[in-house]
Amino acid sequence: SIPLSFFGGIGGASKKGILVKGSNYLEALAETQIVVFDKTGTLTKGVFNVQEIHPEGVSKEELLEFTAYAESYSNHPISISLKSAYGKEIDNGRISEVEEISGHGVSAKVDGKKILAGNIKLMKKMNIPYFEGELIGTVVHVAVDNQYAGYILIADEVKADSAKAIKELKEANIKQTVMLTGDNKNVGSKVAKELGLDKVYAELLPGDKVDKLEELFLQKSGKGKLAFVGDGINDAPVLARADIGIAMGGLGSDAAIEAADIVIMTDEPSKIATGMKISKKTLKIAH
Ligand code: ADP
Ligand code: MG
Repeated sequence: SIPLSFFGGIGGASKKGILVKGSNYLEALAETQIVVFDKTGTLTKGVFNVQEIHPEGVSKEELLEFTAYAESYSNHPISISLKSAYGKEIDNGRISEVEEISGHGVSAKVDGKKILAGNIKLMKKMNIPYFEGELIGTVVHVAVDNQYAGYILIADEVKADSAKAIKELKEANIKQTVMLTGDNKNVGSKVAKELGLDKVYAELLPGDKVDKLEELFLQKSGKGKLAFVGDGINDAPVLARADIGIAMGGLGSDAAIEAADIVIMTDEPSKIATGMKISKKTLKIAH
């Protein structure tokens, strides 16, 4: 039977904005050994600002317009940011054949022209030669009718709360903090270094994230638990695979909230350490 005090623990957690979907998950929190984070929207704000626009064969304005139009049907943080950078109203009548390519970008027809907007993986997949110089930031490469049309360099920021979140996990004796991201290695390493994460794996497709989790499971000992923290639609399979799936509910997708065992109602990853403290305290009362 479930000790009564666990209900107290779940109630206490919910008062702090941590929704625990069962006493077993609250108990598991105290036994966490590895905490794995998604990057965008979890450790970073998920709001990208345009840093540079480098067109090729089109004007800057055209490049941004084509990209914003091609991205206009997507809810990806990159799409939302590019639409807001464009700033003008989108005329849906100019757009057709929209396709979102998970972990790659988008494809759509705008004014009858085929626009591709996404990362290097997308350009490679479509056989488009792209700018290969070193760029520090998240890069959206664009092609118009299969011709490279340049790139838009964008940048996200780490959340003010993220450094505290990692520090508190270390103080709680978590053995490993890990970040998984579909973004490029430069961005991944920069964020990991800034936050003091133990490990980072970048350029992962959504399916690769589940494979990485399997690898990390093998590094865990005894009854230690692995927690994954994410917020995106793509994160649902990873949330489901982890011992403890934690969704950031603040900006998170419904799919992530549904798949999670624990939902953090704010955008603060430090709530994970708060939850662990409540878990340990509750266990002490129960035993
Ligand atoms: P994350 O691990 O940051 O949550 P995703 O798996 O959603 O990332 O995406 C991985 C990468 O795929 C992004 O960093 C970006 O390069 C590219 N990408 C995904 N969706 C889009 C989009 N709508 N527009 C442009 N690029 C995208
Ligand atoms: Mg994501």
